[in-house]
Amino acid sequence: MKQRIDLHLHTNCSDGLRTPLEILEEVRKRKLAAFAITDHDTISGFLSAREQLQEGDPELIAGLELSCSTEAGDIHLLAYLFDPDNARLLEALGDFQEKRNQRGRKMVQRLNDMGISITYDDVLQAAGTAAVGRPHVAEAMHQCKAVASYDDAFRQYIGDKKPAFVPKHNFTPADAISLIHAAGGVAVLAHPMVAGAVDRIEELAGLGIDGIEVLHPDHKQHEAAKLKEMAERFRLLWTGGSDFHGRGGRCGSIGSEAVPIDCLQELKLRSSQKRGSD
Ligand code: AMP
Ligand code: ZN
Ligand code: FE
Ligand code: FE
Repeated sequence: MKQRIDLHLHTNCSDGLRTPLEILEEVRKRKLAAFAITDHDTISGFLSAREQLQEGDPELIAGLELSCSTEAGDIHLLAYLFDPDNARLLEALGDFQEKRNQRGRKMVQRLNDMGISITYDDVLQAAGTAAVGRPHVAEAMHQCKAVASYDDAFRQYIGDKKPAFVPKHNFTPADAISLIHAAGGVAVLAHPMVAGAVDRIEELAGLGIDGIEVLHPDHKQHEAAKLKEMAERFRLLWTGGSDFHGRGGRCGSIGSEAVPIDCLQELKLRSSQKRGSD
């Protein structure tokens, strides 16, 4: 059997529930050949897993999932094989975290104004080591019994366009691609079938993305087949992963997508060609 990899995993450094070490242990158990930790807008989960690697472990790839805003809605760009010490990248991620904190405070203020007495500390506690996001606000609201469930918090208060929703400061796709390339990495459009990102593939190819994610738990078989064709048409690479978050719902389990190691080899080739042509 061909060796499998998983190029899309989240830890509790973003909105996953498992620690980087727990992910590493599971990847070992499942005998994956390689894996990428792709937390939202932070590489701290990747760095922590890297520190805990032992000899003979599966190969850990530098990864990141950048949130990008466009007028037509948000898209997620996966970054792979970048230099995790790149100063421009680190500065951009630091700035992003700071803006996330400010946004979290604003959402708490709006909820307070609506009579819900949660504090920003409750949210920070829910976030733990992660950058503050809506999942942590929802968790804090549920814990304070302000809502009956995590999902209710989104449905009633903080879902898109709901009264306590505050938009996120995001990168533009062009900025994100340039940032990833400047750090020696490759840029891959995440889960194109989600929120109509598939309609933007041609435009993103024009902006210089390197690949698209084809295998993903949200993609049906015929959709993955269509995406593979699109990748060929636009001369893009293809990747895949479970988008594991450790909670039920729309993510897969670690290694659940049949992603062959060849995908990674192609990414490496592309990254080294890029670095060579700088
Ligand atoms: P943020 O990046 O802070 O805007 O939070 C986005 C995250 O919130 C997503 O990745 C999901 O985990 C979660 N989320 C967004 N909308 C919903 C929803 N309607 N119901 C449940 N979770 C949601
Ligand atoms: Zn996520
Ligand atoms: Fe995503
Ligand atoms: Fe993801």
